[in-house]
Amino acid sequence: MKDRSLLMIPGPIEFEPAVLSAMGNPTPSHVAPEFIEVFGQALERMREVFLAPDGQPFVVAGSGTLAMDLAGANLVEPGDRALVVNTGYFGDRYGDLLGRYGAEVTHVRAPIGSRPALDEVEAALSAGHYKLMTVTHVDTSTGVVTDVKGLAALARARGVLIVVDGVCSVAGEVLRMTEWGVDVALTASQKAIGTPPGLALLVAGPRALEAFSHRKTDVGNYYADWTNWLPVMQAYEARKPSYFGTPAVNLVSALNVSLGQILAEGMDARFLRHSRVSQACKAGIAALGLGQVPLSDEMAATTMTAPRYPAGLAGPDFLAKAKAAGVILAGGLHPAIRGEYFRIGHMGAVSQGDVLATVGAVESALAACGYGFEHGVGIAATMGILAE
Ligand SMILES: *Cc1c(COP(=O)(O)O)cnc(C)c1O
Repeated sequence: MKDRSLLMIPGPIEFEPAVLSAMGNPTPSHVAPEFIEVFGQALERMREVFLAPDGQPFVVAGSGTLAMDLAGANLVEPGDRALVVNTGYFGDRYGDLLGRYGAEVTHVRAPIGSRPALDEVEAALSAGHYKLMTVTHVDTSTGVVTDVKGLAALARARGVLIVVDGVCSVAGEVLRMTEWGVDVALTASQKAIGTPPGLALLVAGPRALEAFSHRKTDVGNYYADWTNWLPVMQAYEARKPSYFGTPAVNLVSALNVSLGQILAEGMDARFLRHSRVSQACKAGIAALGLGQVPLSDEMAATTMTAPRYPAGLAGPDFLAKAKAAGVILAGGLHPAIRGEYFRIGHMGAVSQGDVLATVGAVESALAACGYGFEHGVGIAATMGILAE
């Protein structure tokens, strides 16, 4: 019997059958004409999904952290100043990473579940000569979404490059790279892009490439160096063979299928579907009397939900019971509150049925853990939103 558990974590997500079957095709040569066509098409489609008509896409084998590294390694030179808009675990990671390349890193922080206000970021920017600012669009450790549009406008006004860690956002959360003036946006295949883990995806805008071309020092990371990858990406898009490191051929084929599905749905329709599913999930959680890590609705992501456990409830026990009810959920990630909350990912091809099954499994698990509530009240609230 097929394992029917539903994987509802903030990546990897449930993948579409056509995407998975593309993984299983015989592996062509990385310079076979059919594969060059597929890779070239995937690069063109990335530009559309990132809403970055003037961007340069990169697809490199690795996880989302490599995508962060691609931006950090290529844009930072020793002594450069970098500002991290920090909303949790992945902001800390970005700060560490930039430090490795010699950046002088400053964090603008906020209490857990909140985000720095635009005027705090503006004050930080005005106090230092920053080369670059990183923003985590959705910090997967808190479920907090940042105002990328507003932050990009601040960075633009000061000529600071803005790098958006969109690993939990691209193709789920609204992100309009060129229109908003974002210089680099990056993600990983296994999140809202809907392809199994293993690809780092990044789009660099014209200002980022310009800054890269004016570097005075070599890139301190051989594998991540755009000098190696840029000609390869340009060649595939021009439908010409090229080589630096063997591409993850089967994954790139699967990515192209997924990007095709995303564009067939349409970006605005996709954003709307994610928003409805998110509201339905959050309404169900709230109706059950559970709080959420984000301190306000406005700060809560649409790609995931981060509910707090009711007092006295043990996390591992709850997650095992949710799994027994058919839905796999994730535990906490932020070190300061790890045992106090759990995480639901709802991105990619996520459907109304998926969110109902998820809220149902949360109800079953809460009941099995002895939490007192009126049974069905979560599902009813979720259905209420879905029926609107
Ligand atoms: C998942 C995630 C990452 C890391 O991606 P990996 O593929 O696990 O390396 C980075 N940033 C954010 C916001 C994420 O959600």
